[in-house]
This record gives sequence, C-alpha cells and structure tokens, in this order.
Amino acid sequence: MIHSDPRFRTVVEPFRLKMVEPIHFPSREERVAAIGAAHHNLFALPAELVTIDLLTDSGTGAMSTEQWAALLRGDESYAGATSFRRFERVVQELTGFPYVLPTHQGRAAERLLFAHFGGPGVIIPNNSHFDTTRAHVEATGSVAVDLPSPLAGDTQLEAPFKGDMDLDALEALLKNQGSRVPVVCVTITNNAAGGQPVSMANLRAVRALCDKYGKPLFLDAARFAENAWFVREREPGYSRIDVRTIAQEAFRLADGTWVSAKKDGLVNIGGFLAFKDETLLTPLRNGLILNEGFPTYGGLAGRDLEALAVGLTEVTDEDYLRYRARSVAWLGHGLERGGMPVLKPFGGHAVYLDARRLLPDWSPDDLPAQALAVALYVEGGVRGVEIGTLMFGRTRPDGHQVAAPRELVRLALPRRVYTQAHVDYVIEVGTWVAQHKECLQRLRIEWEPEALRHFTARLHPIRSSARGLRQLESP
Ligand SMILES: *Cc1c(COP(=O)(O)O)cnc(C)c1O
Repeated sequence: MIHSDPRFRTVVEPFRLKMVEPIHFPSREERVAAIGAAHHNLFALPAELVTIDLLTDSGTGAMSTEQWAALLRGDESYAGATSFRRFERVVQELTGFPYVLPTHQGRAAERLLFAHFGGPGVIIPNNSHFDTTRAHVEATGSVAVDLPSPLAGDTQLEAPFKGDMDLDALEALLKNQGSRVPVVCVTITNNAAGGQPVSMANLRAVRALCDKYGKPLFLDAARFAENAWFVREREPGYSRIDVRTIAQEAFRLADGTWVSAKKDGLVNIGGFLAFKDETLLTPLRNGLILNEGFPTYGGLAGRDLEALAVGLTEVTDEDYLRYRARSVAWLGHGLERGGMPVLKPFGGHAVYLDARRLLPDWSPDDLPAQALAVALYVEGGVRGVEIGTLMFGRTRPDGHQVAAPRELVRLALPRRVYTQAHVDYVIEVGTWVAQHKECLQRLRIEWEPEALRHFTARLHPIRSSARGLRQLESP
C-alpha cells in the first residue's frame, strides 16, 4: 500500500477519474455582476457561476464505479424489495441495531424521532445540536440544550477531542431535571463545534451516565467514519484497530442512531434511523409511512438504497479517510501560512476561517464573515458559507445587529470531488484575500425574512473607505 511506504510521503487521491464534470471559470467582472444580482447572498448564486463550490459537504460527493453499478440493481418493488434487504444488512452489520428505517435525508429521521420523544416540557441534551436537529426538537415544544466540552469555545486550542460532551453538565442536568429528559443525543463528529471528533472515552462516559439515570442514548452519526478516523489517529489504544471496528464500537455504545447519508453515506440523497428497542418500532414506522413511504423504501428509490449500501461500506476505507483528513488539513495549513486566521485543530469535513480575527475593528453590523465569504467568491470564484451574525444573529429594533458568538466562514470539502490542485487554488485565493483585506466591503442587510434569514436575505455593500473601493474597482 503506497500510503504506508515510508519512502513516499505524498497522500495521493485514492481514486482516478472515469467521468469528468466541467467546472466554470467566470471572469472577475462576471462574478462582480453575479454577486450584485444575488444581493451579496451566496445562496442566490447560480451554481455555474461558481468555480470551486465549498458551500457544503452535504449530498455533494462523487459516487464510485461500484455505486453507479449498484444503481442498476435497484429493485423498485413497493414492498419487500431486495435493495432494502441489502441496505438493511449493511446498516445492521455497521450499527448492530436490528430495526432500520430508511428516510429521504437526516432531517426526516429527526422529525420522526422527536415527534416521538419530544413535546412541551421535554429537554433534549446533545453535545451540540445540528441546526435541523435543534429546529425539529424545538418544533415539538421541547428545549434543545447544547452541552459541548468547555474546550470547544477556544478556537485556537489544539485539543484532540473538542467535540466531546461536557460530562459534568450532562450529569447535573440528569440529576436535577432527569424526569424531563427522554433521550440523550451525541453528534459525531460535532459539526456545530467545527467538525471536531468525539472520543470513545467520552462516549463510554456518556453511556455510563445514561445507564445510571436510565436514559437511552442516540447518536446523530452523519460523520461516523470521519469520527472513527480521528479516534484511530488521536485516541490512546486505538492506533491498531481498524476504522470500521471503531465505528461499530461507537454505535454499540448507543441505543439508536439517525444518519444523514448525504455525508458519510457517500450518496447525494438519503438517510436512516436504526435502533434496538422494539417498542419504538411501531410509532416510528407509523410516522415513516405517514411522512416518507412504506418501510422498505422510506423516502428513497430502490436504487438509492443500493448506492447507499455500497457507500456505507466504502466510507470506512482507510486510504479514503486518510486522503480526506489530509485534504482538510492541507487546506487549513495552507490558508494559515497565507495569513488567514483559521479555527484549530482542523476537523473532518471543513476549514473554518475566523473573520473576527482577520477584521478585528469591524462591527457585527458590518457582517465581517459574510464580507469575507463574498470576497472569496468575487476574487476567486470560491463559494463558502457564512456561519456568523448573518446566520445566527438578528436585527434589533434599533437596526443594529445582535452578534453571533463567532464570525466564521466554513469551507466544506465535498467527498472525492476535488483534487490537490483545486485545494491549492483555494489556498491561493484565500491568501490573496487575507493580504488585501482592506479591499473587503462592509455589508448591510437590506431585506430579511423572519426565520432562517441567511438563506434568502438581501444585502448591500456600504462605502467604507475610498481607498478600498478604488482597489476593488481596479485590482
Ligand atoms: C446534515 C446533518 C443533519 C441533517 O441531515 P439532512 O440530510 O441535511 O436532512 C443532521 N445532523 C447532522 C450532524 C448533519 O450533519
């Protein structure tokens, strides 16, 4: 295996290309026009005007030859399809859970699960709720409580498992308000904390608390393979255990899981719920039939289940995971060397740029992270996503912004899509922008909807300094 030959250090992409999809190179002029027409909202850009699209790693991956071949095997029978049984076997082998319900994506599984566990007066703890998870918990009238490790708050601290749950806080919650908690959730990797992994030691300790207080444990396991990779790389005692065994061990510490297969399922659409408590089967299956479809296809076609069965098997390939972690770290180190402040350590699926450290004198009213995301697009055709005041803040009655805790831009890498040359180009663009930060334009919100404003808000630049503007007009 090339990756273990000490004479050669390059981590090559563990695939070659059999089909190519052209990417587009609009000129800077075209990009300036496009961002204006999109009201400075990157979600409103036509995808063909983006050169490197790092908006999300969700559903944007490339399928393998085996997955494409499996599509043809799809059995589209309404009930009892062989494709379902193949998918079910793979999920059972991976998770150890006997009951498996396919859903069209992760949030559909969340809707079913929290329709059952949630309701007014209920508290759902999690190391950090993903945004759709929080929305589904809250939609039932429950309270979604985040209990992240205290280490997660320090964006520069190089700790190995910043995704961990705060065990003291969990125990305090279970001791004082345990009767209101029907289930404990842990998200692996912890997306909201920057794709940071959760250690097996932490999972075991959460399991012990769940046993002590008689609570089931569910994993939000969209990135289960990336988490297992980091456990092997970083956690004492795991360096010789294969990644799939580690992933299996994590699932076996829990009572159930839900998975957005658009991440480590290596498919463009899909998800599932799996669990061991038979009494959950009837209510969750009824919800599935009502909202998604018959239990042997859920919200998916038979061919989707085939591709997912293959994806769930391929994703724990260690050459793939090494390449994946290496690509993220390569991007992060490159940007850091170029003068871009980044969140550390680098997580499993994305690099997070810290706009507050790049632009320390900007006010939250100027939307610094959105301004940085816009600059990466205008200067290089690179699309990331703002995770800052536009996404998590709000406008006060006096027109000023309530700031988000951090001003980040996330550059998420789709799986098996971009090569090192693409990543090197993004590093160059980020470096240029960091070195010309005086050109960034402060933004203001022109119009916003009542909820989830970042998807559809309209923004406009304000003229902050004549110097910055002149440079922007004639770079
Ligand atoms: C993506 C994701 C979800 C939601 O899944 P969708 O497939 O986007 O509906 C839930 N939790 C985590 C951790 C995720 O990353």
